[in-house]
Amino acid sequence: MNSELKYKKLYKKVWGKLENITPLSFDCGQLCNAKCCTGTDNNGMLLFPGEEYLYAGKGWCSVKDTNIVLSDGYVIKLLVCGGECPRNERPLSCRIFPLIPYLNEYSRVEFRLDPRSFGICPITRDPVKYPVEEVFIDRLYEVFPPLLKDGKVVEFIEILSEQYDGLMDIFRKISGD
Ligand code: SF4
Ligand code: SF4
Repeated sequence: MNSELKYKKLYKKVWGKLENITPLSFDCGQLCNAKCCTGTDNNGMLLFPGEEYLYAGKGWCSVKDTNIVLSDGYVIKLLVCGGECPRNERPLSCRIFPLIPYLNEYSRVEFRLDPRSFGICPITRDPVKYPVEEVFIDRLYEVFPPLLKDGKVVEFIEILSEQYDGLMDIFRKISGD
């Protein structure tokens, strides 16, 4: 199977399992007027490696290169949208926001609140008031193993984890912890 076909199949399966489940039991966009969907032409959501194949020829979005380059030269892509999308085509990063996969010290994936969401997201601002549903986190643990068989995806998650650690260090310094 060629790599385009492999990735299309992989992400369609993962997307499908995250189609009808959300971090809270209700539409969290009501809390913030869908703040995470109000980017500009120059920012957007990171695509997981190979996910860009699913956006070829789509009129509602564009795909741009980022400055994140994997060890084999593959460039991580950014999906830029106009703040609206066909719900069944939203990328994995949007389906799991405000969580990100994180590789812990045992090289096992876990899911953490994305520090890049701290400024905009009511869930990360007040996780006690708005705890992410257990059933949602369980689903993430269920859908990620096939993705983790792909070396590019693992390397991408390693980079996300390093970015997480870097940002958390900065937040700790700012808050004096
Ligand atoms: S910013 Fe947070 S609360 Fe608002 S829509 Fe996005 S995930 Fe939901
Ligand atoms: S792709 Fe869809 S869900 Fe993701 S930021 Fe754009 S409008 Fe929001």
